Amino acid sequence: MAGVVVVFDFDFTLIDYDSENWVVDTFGLTDLFERFLPTMPWNSLMDKIMKELHSKGLSIEDIEGCLRTIPLDSHIASAIKIAHALGCELRIVSDANKLFIETILVKHELLEYFSEINTNPCYVDEEGRLRISPYHDHIMSVHGCNLCPPNMCKGMILDRIRASAAIAGKKQLIYVGDGKGDYCPSLRLTEGDCLMPRKDFPLSKLLYTNSDLLKAQPHHWSSSEELKEVLLRLITQVEANSLSLVGCNHKEIQESPQEVLSFALGMHN
Ligand SMILES: [Mg+2]
Ligand SMILES: [Zn+2]
Repeated sequence: MAGVVVVFDFDFTLIDYDSENWVVDTFGLTDLFERFLPTMPWNSLMDKIMKELHSKGLSIEDIEGCLRTIPLDSHIASAIKIAHALGCELRIVSDANKLFIETILVKHELLEYFSEINTNPCYVDEEGRLRISPYHDHIMSVHGCNLCPPNMCKGMILDRIRASAAIAGKKQLIYVGDGKGDYCPSLRLTEGDCLMPRKDFPLSKLLYTNSDLLKAQPHHWSSSEELKEVLLRLITQVEANSLSLVGCNHKEIQESPQEVLSFALGMHN
């Protein structure tokens, strides 16, 4: 059971909120944020918001404390632990930022399950202010993908994940996401991969109008409970199918994954 890499988006996927909006709203900067959003890239605006928080006397610890109040559904925590116990490699690709994601995952004791988090990097400057940098340095060189914002092409990241996964002997990807930024990587999935778009969110709407461009079969989910159910079913299907050398786009295996799941849960207790 070790041939699958699961790639998760973060906001509105692993948590049912937008972590950056949560901080903006908690500290009363919603109006400022909305005023600048039409004219500034999201990533640069978040850096500006951090400057504003710093000028109001709020520390990194205050921001981390706010992030720790974001709920993470128990079904998501259990899906992550079971997928990991089943031998899957778990990665995150997110247009949020490193400090926000890691703070939330540490709070919920989930950071150790992820082998890689691809997101916008952060650092604390000499004044103690959190700076958020773009993942792709679009000042030095543009990434050239017209589907994605200048600071991050998730499709390029997915291609790199696929290449490194292949070297490690992992052949199939399961991609879980909800937003516009997840559209580019979704189109780069191949026939044997699985896509898990969140129902009625921007990604599923984009896919609905461009369904002929998609090579992987979509498996929709709405709630955290459904995400868990669909993900664990796909993992067991992909693993079972790989034994007969076909991907999850092909014949569905009807057997219950219960036995495999019980085994994984047993390993974890
Ligand atoms: Mg998202
Ligand atoms: Zn792209």
